[in-house]
Amino acid sequence: LTCQVMSRIEKLVVVGVGLIGGSFALALREHGVVKHVVGVGRSRENLDHALGLGIIDEAFTDAARAVPEADLVLLAVPVGQLPAVMLQMDKRLDPATVVTDAGSTKRDVIRHARQHLPKHLTRFVPAHPVAGTEHSGAAAAKRDLYRGKRVVLTPLPENDPAAIRLVRELWRDCGASVDEMSADAHDAVFAAVSHLPHALAFALVNLIVDHPLRDSLFSFAASGFRDFTRIASSSPEMWRDICVSNYDALLTELGAYERELQRFRHLLEAQDSPGIEALFKRARDAREAWLKGRASATKTK
Ligand code: NAD
Repeated sequence: LTCQVMSRIEKLVVVGVGLIGGSFALALREHGVVKHVVGVGRSRENLDHALGLGIIDEAFTDAARAVPEADLVLLAVPVGQLPAVMLQMDKRLDPATVVTDAGSTKRDVIRHARQHLPKHLTRFVPAHPVAGTEHSGAAAAKRDLYRGKRVVLTPLPENDPAAIRLVRELWRDCGASVDEMSADAHDAVFAAVSHLPHALAFALVNLIVDHPLRDSLFSFAASGFRDFTRIASSSPEMWRDICVSNYDALLTELGAYERELQRFRHLLEAQDSPGIEALFKRARDAREAWLKGRASATKTK
């Protein structure tokens, strides 16, 4: 109870009331730590939806009008929108307000904050909730999206420890466990395990789209295709921004993947059955071990 009282938020502003921002607001509401939630969006329709679903209490299309007197501002827009949003709010932001973000990339977001929120760096705590689905918008928000999931903070050297503590506590209130890492390490890790797989899923679907037999191919595509390409149902705008924002780390992983495909191609050209089986077995064993590790980590939570 003491913890809840300590982290009570009178006014939370969520800029971008979609899957990520909406779920954060719902989780904190359910936990009873937030009193008033203000949503900022660019489409009136999505904001009305968020109001109707009880995610937010008040809505604005201009961040400048929403942020005064906020205890916390969460920026949950596609990362390419962050410079514009930061510029909008900079002049109206109270010095005491803690600002955090949910962007999937971190070095670029930090660069934007240094450029557009230079007076607020003690209280801008960069974060990335490692949770999501392929669905977007307020209608996709879920109060339990973050339960049992991880959140990575990449704090700035300038950060006030109390600001980091608040952001950490709020993500814990959402049911997540919180880690810290450098922004460089973060962007390298997520280029490999998130950004590259999304780019590959989009590419595989386009391969079929451009195929002369596309209709027939789509009609026979089954669960393997569905599993591989689930994430190609994600927001194109969001993934465009992530790829552009983390382009150098993503290029490194794309190069590694191309080399991996070359390795497979050579084995295939040589019709090297044992070689191909060994390659597949190594991957299957690693995936099984990863699944087991995840299952036991969830159980111990
Ligand atoms: P979303 O599309 O569901 O929500 C984004 C919302 O921001 C939309 O409602 C959109 O109208 C609004 N918006 C866009 N530009 C705006 C602007 N200039 N001003 C105000 N509102 C604006 O997307 P999401 O999945 O919630 O992603 C939000 C952020 O979270 C992104 O930065 C993304 O990289 C990050 N993220 C996403 C996932 C995921 O799996 N979806 C996971 C972790 C982090």
